Order: sequence, then structure tokens, then C-alpha cells
Amino acid sequence: MEPPLDRSTTWPYVDGEPGPFHYARNAHPVGVEVERELGELEGGEALLFSSGMGAATAVVLALLGPGRTVAVAADAYYGTGVLLTELERWGLRHTLFDQTGPPPEGADLVWIEAPSNPLLTLPDFEAAAAHPGLVLCDATAATPVHLRPLERGCDLVLHSATKYLGGHHDVLLGAVVAKRPEHAARLLELRTRTGIVAAPDAAWLLHRGLQTLEVRVARQTETAADLAERLNAHAKVAAVRYPGFGGLLSFDVADGPAARRVETSTEVIVNATSLGGVRSTIETRHRWEGDRVPEGLLRLAVGLEPVEELWRDLVRALGAA
Ligand code: PLP
Repeated sequence: MEPPLDRSTTWPYVDGEPGPFHYARNAHPVGVEVERELGELEGGEALLFSSGMGAATAVVLALLGPGRTVAVAADAYYGTGVLLTELERWGLRHTLFDQTGPPPEGADLVWIEAPSNPLLTLPDFEAAAAHPGLVLCDATAATPVHLRPLERGCDLVLHSATKYLGGHHDVLLGAVVAKRPEHAARLLELRTRTGIVAAPDAAWLLHRGLQTLEVRVARQTETAADLAERLNAHAKVAAVRYPGFGGLLSFDVADGPAARRVETSTEVIVNATSLGGVRSTIETRHRWEGDRVPEGLLRLAVGLEPVEELWRDLVRALGAA
């Protein structure tokens, strides 16, 4: 019923020749099974990587090269910009653009994020799809429950599977889903050569997470939508960002010190980074991202706790703002 967890790193040759599984850096049975499951959810060919950033690194190394340009949504996950800046030393260029409008001309890869973390904007999919370059959508916060970017004109979908797909804050993983088999083949080749691979244990945990993805995300959406509405009406809250689906939202209080008091006052919601798990987490993002985000911004990733319990916690914490 559940896929066996085969931790082998090598398998016997078949009649003196490598079989489908021969060395784990290339492929292993549970990894291939979970890639099939995720590929089905997204409508493409999935490949697992050791983390979301590992997946992002693989995409640019496999499909781009020196002198190529990535047009990346200005409010995409801040680590994406950090990675692209790191790769400038290797001749890769990038420019930032407002993903609610058309991407700039001349880019080889358009990198959008739906919804963006933590400003929760949505890209203009039609404008992105009309661009002649490759289009990648980081759909970590949407999940295939709410969005299938390959059906919206994208060539590639990226996930930090560490978040909603894994779902329990206990596995670090990334995934890319490709529409075109040649992209999947090139990514597999680069993954094998660089070794940015997912271990069998991690892949198995992703299999477990995917079994409950739909019910978890449905419940998180219901709770987050309710909390977004209540936060909007709260006197200490200056702004709420919520795209109408998913478990991720952000809201602003007066300033940095007030935000810090809120994040350190919650008791049910854990003051920690990351998102997408069954336990709710909250943190100020200015500490990581600097002036990309307001000092008073708090990112709340809603888990599976009862909504009234979370609301009581937020009201108590906002009292300290
Ligand atoms: N993409 C988004 C939207 C993220 O939020 C993150 C991590 O927070 C990543 C990518 C990177 O994923 P990982 O931490 O699994 O490397």
C-alpha cells in the first residue's frame, strides 16, 4: 500500500547491464514513485531536489548559462534573489520586475511566484505566457490544490516541498515540474551530475505529506480567510495581505518594535520561520529581507489549529503591539 523505503545506493546490474535503478544519485524507487505522484498533481514531469533552493539552482544551471538573463518578480521569495546575485559571479544576469504586469523584453527566463512570499501578489499569467522566454512559476504557497501553473502557460513549476507539500515541518525538499520532456531530461542530467538529489527518507515523507495535501490546504485556506477578515477589522492592524486562497497571509502593525512584541507574545502560534506545516508560525520578515518589506510586517502561516484558538492568540498578542 505504501511504497517501500529502499535506502540502497546501488542495485545489481541486470544481465550485466545497469537496470532502471543502478546508483542512487541518478534515481531511486521511492523518489521516482513520488515524482510520479507530484507530476500527476501538476500535469507535468516532476523531479525532486534536496531543497527548494536546490531546485532553483538546478533550473538556472541546467537551462541557462553565462550572459543569459532572468527577469524575476521583485517580490519573489527573497532567497531567489540572493541565489541569482550569487550566480552573477558566473555570468548570469537578472532584473527585477513587477509581476502584476508584463515581464521585460529580452529575458531568457521569466520567474514569477504565486502568490509571492510575503507580499502575496499574484502574477499576470497571460502577460507572462505571452513572453517569448521560458516561464517558471514558484507555486510553493499556492500548491496544486489551488493552482496548476502549467495550465496557465508556464513551462516550469517550482516548489519548496519543505512547505505545504511535505506539510509537517519535518522534511527539507524541493521539486521542479516540467511541461516539456526535454526540460525534464536536462534537469535530470544536471541533477545526476551535480548531486542536488533528494534522499529516499525525504522522498518517502513527501509521499506521506501528499496523501493529506488537499484536506490540509482546504482547512488552512478556510482558517486563513477567516483570520484575514478578522485582522482587517482589528484596530492595531494597518494592512492585511491575503490573495483569497492558501494558508499564507501577512499583516502590518505600527512599526518594527510593535511587530516584535506581537511575534514574541503568541503562545499557540510558534515564533519561527518557514510555512506550510500543521503548526502555525509567525515572524517579522524585516529581519531577513530588510527594506524589501515594511518593518511592521508579520508573516503568518496558518496551520491546522482551531480558528478560535488562533484568533484568541492573535488578539492577546496584538494587545502587546
Ligand atoms: N520558494 C519559496 C516561495 C519559499 O518560501 C522558499 C523557502 O522559504 C523557497 C522557495 C526555498 O525553499 P527551501 O527552503 O526548501 O530551500
